Amino acid sequence: MKQYYGVYSSNFCNWEQNDKIIAEYIWIDGTGINIRSKSRTLSGTVESISELPDWNFDGSSTQQASTEDSEVTIKPVAIFHDPFRGGDNILVMCATYVWADEERTKLRPANTNFRDFSLPIFEAAEGDHPWFGIEQEYYLFETNNAFTKKLLGWPEGGYPAKEGPYYCSVGASACHGRAIMDAHYRACLAAGVNISGTNAEVMLGQWEFQIGPCEGVTIGDHLWMARYLLGRIGEDFGISISYDPKPIKGDWAGAGCHTNFSTESMRQEGGIKEIYEAIEKLSEKQKEHMELYGEDNEKRLTGKNETCSIEKFTCGVGDRGASIRIPSNVEIEKKGYIEDRRPASNIDPYLVSSILVSTCVAGSEH
Ligand code: ADP
Ligand code: MN
Ligand code: MN
Ligand code: MN
Ligand code: MN
Repeated sequence: MKQYYGVYSSNFCNWEQNDKIIAEYIWIDGTGINIRSKSRTLSGTVESISELPDWNFDGSSTQQASTEDSEVTIKPVAIFHDPFRGGDNILVMCATYVWADEERTKLRPANTNFRDFSLPIFEAAEGDHPWFGIEQEYYLFETNNAFTKKLLGWPEGGYPAKEGPYYCSVGASACHGRAIMDAHYRACLAAGVNISGTNAEVMLGQWEFQIGPCEGVTIGDHLWMARYLLGRIGEDFGISISYDPKPIKGDWAGAGCHTNFSTESMRQEGGIKEIYEAIEKLSEKQKEHMELYGEDNEKRLTGKNETCSIEKFTCGVGDRGASIRIPSNVEIEKKGYIEDRRPASNIDPYLVSSILVSTCVAGSEH
C-alpha cells in the first residue's frame, strides 16, 4: 500500500484565502454509483443552502446528457464542512437536472436524480419520523490504472487464507487498510456526516461504515457524502473503493448496504406490533423492492455467506440468513427497528429509504 502523502497538512493549506471560500459541488453521475465534483470560489462564508448559486456541468462527459444538449444543472441540497481544505470551505451535495422542454423554460430531474423522486414520499410520511441507519460495505483495491486491480492484502494473482479471521480483525496478518478506514472516519466527523461506527468485514480487504440514524431524505445526503469522502481518502493512499456487490466469485463475502429502519410508533413502547405489521407489508412487495436493491444483487443474495435468497422473503430474530432481521434486543424490549439485509452495496440510498417508507408507512402510497 502506498504511503499516506498527507498533502493537506503541507504549507499551502495555511495560505490566506482573502475572504473567499472554496465550495466543492458534488453530484452523482449517470452511472448512478460514481461521484463527480468540481470547485468554485464564493465570497464570504456560507450558512445556508439558499445562499448557494445553482451551477452546471458538461453532462455529455458523465452519461447524463447528449453533446448537442449537454448542460446539466446542479442545485445544492446539503452543506458539509470540507475536512480536506479546512477553514470555512465547504462540500456541497447537489441534485442534477436537465431541461424538460425545448424552449428551456423548465427543469426536470436528470436520469440518476432519485432524491427528487423520494421527496414527496418523505413529505407524506413526515409525521411518522422515519429513521434509517445504513451499513455501507465496500472493498479496497490497490490500483495503478483503470485495468489492473488487486484487493488490498491479497497476494498477487492468488487468494488469501479462507475467510474466518478477517471480520473485526486486529493484527497485520488479518487486517489491511485500517489507516484508510480511520482517516475516513475522522473525515466524516469533521465534515459533519452522521457516521455511527465502522468495522473490518468478513473478506480480507473489505470494510464497513455505518451512517445514521438519519431522518427522511438526510440518510441519502449523508451516505452519498460519506462515499465522496471515502473516494477522496482513497486517492491519497492510491486505493480505489469498490461498491461491487460480489467482486470475487465463489465462497467469498459479497457486499451489502443493510438498511435499518424505524418509525416513531415502532420506537415507542409496544412498537413491536408496528414492526410485525411492517414486515407483513414488506413480504407482499418482495419483487418491487428487489428491483431497487442494487444491480448484480442476484450474485450476492445466494442464501450463503450470511445472505438470504433473492427468491424468498423471510424474517427472523437475530437471523443473519433472513431478508429482514429483528435484532434480539428489539424482540426483548418489544420496540425499536428492523434490519433489511437485502440491499446491495451499490444501492442509491434515496431509493431504498423511500421505498421502505412507501411500503411500510400507512398513508404514503406511491
Ligand atoms: P449490525 O449488527 O447489523 O452489524 P450495525 O451496528 O453495523 O449493525 O448498524 C446498525 C445501524 O442501525 C446503525 O447505523 C445505527 O445508527 C442504526 N440504528 C440504530 N437504531 C435505529 C433505529 N431505531 N432506526 C433506524 N436505524 C437505527
Ligand atoms: Mn471548461
Ligand atoms: Mn454492521
Ligand atoms: Mn456488515
Ligand atoms: Mn447488519
